[in-house]
Order: sequence, then C-alpha cells, then structure tokens
Amino acid sequence: SFHKSKGQHILKNPLLVDTIVQKAGIKSTDVILEIGPGTGNLTKKLLEAGKMVIAVELDPRMVLELQRRFQGTPFSNRLKVIQGDVLKTDLPYFDICVANIPYQISSPLTFKLLFHQPAFRCAVIMFQREFAMRLVAQPGDNLYCRLSVNTQLYARVFHLLKVGKNNFRPPPKVDSSVVRIEPRKPRPQVNGKEWDGFIRICFIRKNKTLGSIFRQKNVVSTLEKNYKTLQALQTSNDETLVGGDEMIDIAKLGDQGMDLDDGTDDEMDVEDDEAEGDVSGFKEKIASVLKEGDFQEKRASKLSQQEFLYLLSLFNKHGIHFS
Ligand code: SAM
Repeated sequence: SFHKSKGQHILKNPLLVDTIVQKAGIKSTDVILEIGPGTGNLTKKLLEAGKMVIAVELDPRMVLELQRRFQGTPFSNRLKVIQGDVLKTDLPYFDICVANIPYQISSPLTFKLLFHQPAFRCAVIMFQREFAMRLVAQPGDNLYCRLSVNTQLYARVFHLLKVGKNNFRPPPKVDSSVVRIEPRKPRPQVNGKEWDGFIRICFIRKNKTLGSIFRQKNVVSTLEKNYKTLQALQTSNDETLVGGDEMIDIAKLGDQGMDLDDGTDDEMDVEDDEAEGDVSGFKEKIASVLKEGDFQEKRASKLSQQEFLYLLSLFNKHGIHFS
C-alpha cells in the first residue's frame, strides 16, 4: 500500500526509466544522489550506470524494501541508503542528482540543491508539469514568475520530457515533466537577501510597470526606511554592512511555486495608493534610478536576468537597499 501523503507514485514504465537515465548523461565514475527511491526501479538503472548511488528515503518500509531488493547482488556495496527527510538531511558530495520526487517538496528541494556546495554537475528531476514550466519559463512567457527568476539566477534549466499520469502507480492527479538543472559556475556573486527582497517587490504585480510599482506608498516607505537605517548605521560605525554573497533564506524561498492556482501575479498585501509628497523626495529618488536605466515602463513579466541584476545594481549604487 502506498502513502499518498508521502507522494508515493512509483514509476512503472521501464522504458521511461531508461529514457530518464539516458538523458541524465551519467558517467561510470559518477556518484549519484537519488531522492525518494521508493521500491528502487530507478535506483537499479542508476546503479548500472554510475559508480555509486546515495539514496535518501523518508519511509522506513521503503528503505527495507530497497535494501532487500539489492541484498546479495553485486550492487549492494555501491548503494548507500539514508533514511530520513531529504530537506533535513545534510547532503553528501555527489556529481549528479536523479530523482522522481514527491511533488510537495519541489520548491524547497530545488533551492536546497541550488545552494548545495560544492556544486554538482546537473540534476535531472521529475516535477509536476506546471511547476516544471515555471522553472523553465522565459521573460514574456505566461508562467514566468519569481520561481523562474530565482532558479535561473543560480542555474540553467531545461525541459527534457513530458510524462503522462499513467506512467505511475498509483497515477497522480497531475501530469509531470522531467527537468534538467545545471548550476551556474561560478555561482553569481549576489547578495541573496537583497536579491530576494528586490524580486519580491518587482513581482508584486508582474504585469504592472516598474514605474508604478515603485511609486506605491508601502514600497517607497519600506525602501526609505531601509535607506535611513543604513545611513544611521554607516555613520555610527563606518563599516560596510551590505554586500557579499549572503545566503538566501531557503525556508523563505521554499514558500513559492506551489501556489499553482492562477499563474499570473504573486499576490501580496499591498495598497495601490501612491506615495504622497511627504516622503522628502525619496519617491523622486527612486524614480530617477528607474529612469537612469530606462526601467519606468518595463514590467517584471518581461525582464531578463541581466536586466534585473542591472536594476538592482543601480539601486544599490544609489544607496537604495532591499534587505
Ligand atoms: N523513485 C521511485 C520511483 O520512481 O518509482 C518512487 C518515487 S515516489 C514519487 C517518491 C518517494 O519519495 C517515495 O518513496 C516517498 O516515500 C519518498 N519521500 C517522500 N517524502 C520524502 C522526503 N521528504 N525525503 C525523502 N524521501 C521522501
């Protein structure tokens, strides 16, 4: 009996398993990380292709079944099973990750992998179709969202394969897709908290112009507060407080992407009021930064990675910060 709550949908189509393994481009020297091996259909092919498989499985019954399956075979000394929640497990070194995961952990797992050091070569992962389409969405695509931008900051992402429900037992409610994630090397040197704060604001309404988002009262007042706090701190202890490759809070990022309801805007509690003149010109200061990069009429839904990075650097250059 399978546990729906653990996302246990077993791959029953051996041809599909072969295709996934083939597309992963495994080398015979590879250490492979598998997440949620279940009964081991994929694990077996991974053992045939690579040097070693480290499999992280939450369900103790599955762990037993897996061990039993490979006991006494030549594979047994090349398989290491870790019982536990992959999100709470310190991941070991691996060259490549191949997994048919439970979809409820898609977002936090993706960011856990993106922050894993040292960076692996690639991850080939089965996701819910719409999540996969969000991961790979490009500027101007309907599903382009914070998840796309944040993922693609740290990795190149490719859609590999559409997979119908009936390849699984029991069949899930949704269609699936296999995606290839290749971490960018070197890692982009971005202050993660700045980036996250900035992207959240840009995507408050992804189809609104940045000019109008950055005139909103709550946006202006937040940025002005950050500005004043930093200025006060900088004059008091003369140290640089912002910069460096600070980590994004993975837990915080993990909350995105599973709200697959509309695929349009990231809703936030925002008032649409425009800031009034009582903010001592800060609204104008922000506007002049947007103008400098010609961003007033642009919309988050159409901005590329480079454009976001450029706008953030313009803001930072003028002392405007998002964390
Ligand atoms: N890989 C197998 C296959 O393709 O046939 C099974 C895939 S099934 C979609 C997901 C597996 O992940 C299940 O075996 C489930 O017990 C396990 N799992 C669920 N949550 C997990 C977690 N947080 N950490 C590790 N494994 C988990």
